[in-house]
Amino acid sequence: MFFHIILERNMQLHPRHFGARLRDKLVSKLMKDVEGTCSGRHGFVVAIMGIEHVGKGLIRDGTGFVTFPVKYKCVVFRPFKGEILEAVVTMVNKMGFFAEAGPVQVFVSNHLIPDDMEFQSADTPNYTTSDGSVKIQKDTEVRLKIIGTRVDATEISLCKKGNLKQALHLLSSESKPTQQTYELLILACALQKSFPDAFAVHRNIVDNGFDQDPFLATKLIDMYSELDCIDYARQVFDKIPRRTIYVWNAILRALTLAGYGVEALGLYREMNRIGMPCDRFTHTYAIKACVVSESMTTSLLEKGKEIHGRVLRHGYETHVHIMTTLLDMYAKFGNVSYASYIFDGMPDKNVVSWSAMIACYAKNERPLEALNLFHEMVYEIRGFSPNSVTMVNVLQACAALAALEQGRLIHCYILRRNLDSILPVTSALMTMYSRCGKLEVTQKIFDQMDKRDVVSWNTLISSYGIHGFGMKAVRVFEEMLSRGIKPSAISFVSVLGACSHAGLADMGKRLFDSMTEQHGISPSVEHYACLVDLLGRANRIKEAAKVIEDMKIKPGPKVWGSLLGSCKIHGNVELAERASTQLFQLEPANAGNYVLLADIYAEAGMWDEVKRVKQLLEAQGLQKVSGRSWIEVRRKIFSFMSVDELNPQIELIHALLAEFSEEMKQQGYTPRTELVLYDLEEKEKERILLGHSEKLAVGFGLINTSKGETIRITKNLRLCEDCHTMTKFISRYTSREIMVRDVNRIHHFRDGVCSCGDYW
Ligand SMILES: [Zn+2]
Ligand SMILES: [Zn+2]
Repeated sequence: MFFHIILERNMQLHPRHFGARLRDKLVSKLMKDVEGTCSGRHGFVVAIMGIEHVGKGLIRDGTGFVTFPVKYKCVVFRPFKGEILEAVVTMVNKMGFFAEAGPVQVFVSNHLIPDDMEFQSADTPNYTTSDGSVKIQKDTEVRLKIIGTRVDATEISLCKKGNLKQALHLLSSESKPTQQTYELLILACALQKSFPDAFAVHRNIVDNGFDQDPFLATKLIDMYSELDCIDYARQVFDKIPRRTIYVWNAILRALTLAGYGVEALGLYREMNRIGMPCDRFTHTYAIKACVVSESMTTSLLEKGKEIHGRVLRHGYETHVHIMTTLLDMYAKFGNVSYASYIFDGMPDKNVVSWSAMIACYAKNERPLEALNLFHEMVYEIRGFSPNSVTMVNVLQACAALAALEQGRLIHCYILRRNLDSILPVTSALMTMYSRCGKLEVTQKIFDQMDKRDVVSWNTLISSYGIHGFGMKAVRVFEEMLSRGIKPSAISFVSVLGACSHAGLADMGKRLFDSMTEQHGISPSVEHYACLVDLLGRANRIKEAAKVIEDMKIKPGPKVWGSLLGSCKIHGNVELAERASTQLFQLEPANAGNYVLLADIYAEAGMWDEVKRVKQLLEAQGLQKVSGRSWIEVRRKIFSFMSVDELNPQIELIHALLAEFSEEMKQQGYTPRTELVLYDLEEKEKERILLGHSEKLAVGFGLINTSKGETIRITKNLRLCEDCHTMTKFISRYTSREIMVRDVNRIHHFRDGVCSCGDYW
């Protein structure tokens, strides 16, 4: 609040200023000395309004200076408890953030920041809501409610000036430091990220017997968390005998932020064992702890379900933030049905909950549901404006479905809401266009960007990659390097993938070696999988197997999967057996591996082996992942399963495909019936082949789109050889451009030729 008050001050003036302008001199000196100062009683002096009265001057012996008692009018600013202030953020860290409201320095502790905002240690550290709609970072304007004020003459002013050492020195001569003094010092240490000083303050706290103070323990834990010294945070926690809920929550938060989920859950269990009552923060951190560890084991999921039960027992089922955190946890475990169950049961949903559910569908391969929910959110419920994170998820869904028309609509929406300058949104747009076959639009968006980050470059590289333009991808990669942008691990995944699709084995091998030699990036399982794929596809399978043998890290299922995939392409039974033995152990529940091996045996005519693998598959109770294709017609997405009976036009589609098949046979084509893994009549096998989902989608596209329109299809598995041959034929026979994107890449069929050059 601002006040107009009269204050008094003794002012000293040198005799040389005496004269007619004495009063002016007093005013200007007063302004210099007083404006901006602060006292506990009156607050900040904002401006001197004038001099009320100047008393009689008194000559000071021996100096010649004269002291005048001056009464002056001024405006002071004094914040009061409960007052709302507008402030500008000056610094953000794990402990909270600092802001300035005019002359007032404000610190907002993380405990007071709304609980759906989380700390993110990016280049610009910030607190962001889980959907990204609100972000507090340096220079953000915030509105604050004052909960307390403090005027400190010594330490804080020193700390702020960066003179922490001097403050510490003062501390050593201070006879009775208070809790408040320590709190300020702890804050300053965290602020300056100074570990030695932090340690000195901590030691001083112990020496002065404050180490049993739970309030300071909470602050110390926060401080060590900010300094990334989680071990010390844990030590503070272990040594404090009286643990309040704040102490518990601080350590849970610190462990969760540092990715020590299992440890956090151990402490959460301990809290429950000793009967420590939990609050909403405790539950929130515990739920998050289930998904921060690198390995997402089923036991962590069980733990999450247990916390879910406890949250319900404590009556939090209507608490939007906790329920959304739970939803997000199930989403991260890929448990879509639980997530949607929670979402449907939430009485109040906010924009965060909607976004979390859309993200859940988008990230768990349910793009159609993600798009539908987005439409419901925007067009039916209204009132909610999706933010950039949601837009990224929705664009990913469009990309997954090759839904170009929907994607364009969303692009317009993004432009209207000025979200197009946000880098992740732009990258998602680029990806959407390239996955829908519009590579030229991807390049155009990239060219028009004011600033680009490594993700933008990676996106462009992988876009050229999936279109089979390997050399172009490598050139973009080289341009990125020449512009001084440091490649990330993902950059190499993108460029190696691009080499692989284009058969550039030597180039890929060189790039792989450059990772460690020139860029100091040690290859991960992902990179090895790319290399194995690259060599394997190029029919250098022995070399690929050698790479696996020499690997310094454990080859995971991805690496063996790449080898098995290559064996399928080149019909290498011996290595396929070796790869699948490993895969059956690593991923016993992945039906795809069994099917691949059976395919390889089938192509080699080893029918007994086919039967054996199929029995193995059935004995495990596994279901083969069924082929699915999607096509967008007039902004609607249609989904096709093999031998689909649901589509009303199915008879028409079958008839059309049969006609093509007859025409093709006359031109010398034989259906690849060996691809059908059943012991059936040849005719029946042909029927099954014609029922493949992508053929149905092509047929549907031909019937329902106008001449000259490109047909765009996506498929959840690899395109089979028979569909590939037939689609080439159809593209020539009907003079249509057909784009099919399978799990690996994009196939552009035109005039009987595919852009992949039959190499995929
Ligand atoms: Zn097929
Ligand atoms: Zn192709």
